[in-house]
This record gives sequence, structure tokens and C-alpha cells, in this order.
Amino acid sequence: MSSSSLSVQGLAKRYGDFVALAPTDLVVADGEFLTLLGPSGSGKTTLLSLLAGLVPPDEGSVRIGSQDVTYAPPYERDIGVVFQNYALFPHMTIEENIAFPLKMRKVSAADAKRRAREALEMVHLPHIAGRYPRELSGGQQQRVALARCMVYKPSIILMDEPLGALDKKLREHMQLEIKRLHREMGTTIVYVTHDQEEAMTMSDRICLMNAGRIEQLGTPADLYFRPRTLFVADFLGESNILPADLRTRVGDEVEVGVGSSGVSGRALANGHDLPPGSSVRVMVRPQNLAVARHGASAMGVPAVGVQGRVSEVMVTGSLTKVYMEPLDRNLPPLVAAFPTRNEADAVRIDDVLTLSWSGRDAVVIADT
Ligand code: ATP
Repeated sequence: MSSSSLSVQGLAKRYGDFVALAPTDLVVADGEFLTLLGPSGSGKTTLLSLLAGLVPPDEGSVRIGSQDVTYAPPYERDIGVVFQNYALFPHMTIEENIAFPLKMRKVSAADAKRRAREALEMVHLPHIAGRYPRELSGGQQQRVALARCMVYKPSIILMDEPLGALDKKLREHMQLEIKRLHREMGTTIVYVTHDQEEAMTMSDRICLMNAGRIEQLGTPADLYFRPRTLFVADFLGESNILPADLRTRVGDEVEVGVGSSGVSGRALANGHDLPPGSSVRVMVRPQNLAVARHGASAMGVPAVGVQGRVSEVMVTGSLTKVYMEPLDRNLPPLVAAFPTRNEADAVRIDDVLTLSWSGRDAVVIADT
């Protein structure tokens, strides 16, 4: 295993009887950008703190490359940490702040100064070396915090909601900056956020956490298009979840009967190996639902059609969203999204439409 890969095995943390992190296995590859995503209290910060060595685990191990660092103090791990509150020293200039970790590592003053300047160049702030933290904006302080972490070139950087305190525009700008630095430095990054869009745009893989355990680990597309559970489908963006009965398996797809009318359709089995007759749910993202006026399937693709009455149409710039009440009362309301076209195509409230999808655009999720 290369030196900047990070792996944990059976890692667990309890506070009294409360399980903050259930025994967890995870491998972060060398140079990977992995995001811990999940609702408040799901254990993201707990896992990150265990990786950093800020709290001791109850069980399990942490390895960097082949080295067991489970009980090593933070400063003996080749890891940098950036938190939401920048924690810059107020009485030091920016350059002194950035040089501080080098001083701690006994780097000479001249070398430390040169490297601090280089780090400031990397975050595009070479002109503020002599200023104090209070003289900087939130975004600038966050970039200084990044520079201070990068200056000693740790092979792994852990970031806990580093952009949480910034407004939307600055946040988006900083997301690009962090991605650029990740690309240029090839550092392994473990990033914590509860913002699903941020996780989707920045990560090689997302580790979605729920109640102290990993709910699903995969690429953003894996989690978005192939969620294994209802929790994942719900957490990442809008979804349509249809109750269905599993009929037969056809390769990596299954045939299902949807709702009480049992309209037949297909979906990816998605790793679930359930016997015929099982109750399942089928998930389709809004943009994968095709809207037709006469129950026809889109482009001749084998499709299932659910009929419904339009309850709301929202044009959100380039996308039009159509909300629909299925005629089958056992189905929940559905939403379809498609590129906004010209007026002639416009769908109107109370129109009765058929929504359909191809088998490869729908996935089975377990009915639990
Ligand atoms: P957030 O997004 O709100 O930061 P999180 O996913 O990072 O949440 P953690 O901070 O890891 O969640 O907390 C997980 C659970 O462990 C929470 O219910 C929290 O209250 C609990 N917890 C964390 N630290 C302690 C502690 N020192 N003592 C007792 N309980 C704790």
C-alpha cells in the first residue's frame, strides 16, 4: 500500500452507551478526494477526528500506508487538518501564521519564510503576508488556513466543513480552489460536508454516513443513480420512489409490477438479489422520466407508463419540472424534469400524461 493511502479497520467510537461510530472499514486511495457526507450527528466529525488522532478509538485501527498510527499523536501523523473556524493566531501576521507549523518542525527561519511565501502564492494571496487575520475577509482567512496546512506538504489533508462559514458565491469559488490545489499537489483529501451538491461536485468518491455507520460508499454517480437504500435516494437530490413487486430477473435487470395496477416495467437489480414476489421500491430520477401525452414510450425504448394528472408545472430557467398525481392512488406524487423547450410543448395543469422510463434508468432499492 502506498504511503499516503489511508485505511481503517473496525474503527469504532462510543460516548457512554451512545455509538458515535459503529465498527467501520474504509480505504482511501493515494491521491483520492473522498467526502464524508451525511446529516448532522451521523458521525462524520467523529471519523475525521479519529483519523487525525484528536480522539482515541474504542476499537479498531488506523493505518497510513503500511504504518499503524492508531495511537500515534496528531503531530506524528503525516496529516494536515483544516476546520471550519480557521483558527489563525490573531497576534501573528499571515506569514507568521503560515510559517508556524514549519517552526514547530524545526525548519530554519529563512526556509520557513520562503516556503510561507510559496504557500501564499499557491492560494493566490501573495500580497497579504504582512497583514493580521482580522484584516482579512472570511474567504481570505480560509485560504490562509489552507496555505498553513499545505506549507509542510502533508500527504493527507483532512477538512471539516472548511467552507461552512462562507456565502454561496465565495463557497463555490473556494470549491474550485480546493479542487485545483488537490489536482496540483496530488494530496489525499478527506473532506467533511453535509452539503450534497458540494460533495457531488468535488469528490472522487462519497462516503454517505447515517447514524454512525457508512450507508453507501461510491462515486457521486453511483450514489445518485444507483442508491442502494431509501436513505441514499432521499438524501441526494430529488427522486421518485415507486412501490413495486418483483416478477422476474432478466440479466442485470428485473421486471417489476408497479403500484396496485401492476403496470409492468424494468429496473436495474442494483446488486439486490431478491426472490420473485418480493416487495421492492423502484427509484427513478426526475430527469429520467419521459413525459408523453398518449401513453407512448419514449423513442421506442421498452418502458413502463404511469398515468397521472399534472398538478404543477415549474419552469426553472433551463429546466421544466412537471409534478403529477398518479391516477393509481397507491402511488406517491411524481416529478419529471426536462429541458425547457418552446411554448408549443408546454404541459399544463390538469393535463393527463404518461410518465415512462427505460429499465436502465430505474433501480431497485430494498423495501426497508
Ligand atoms: P455535524 O454535521 O452536526 O457536525 P457529524 O456527522 O459530524 O455532525 P459527529 O460530530 O461525529 O456528527 O457526532 C456524532 C454523534 O456523536 C452526535 O450525536 C454527537 O452528539 C455525538 N458526540 C460527538 N462528540 C461527543 C462527545 N465528546 N461526547 C458525547 N457525544 C458526542
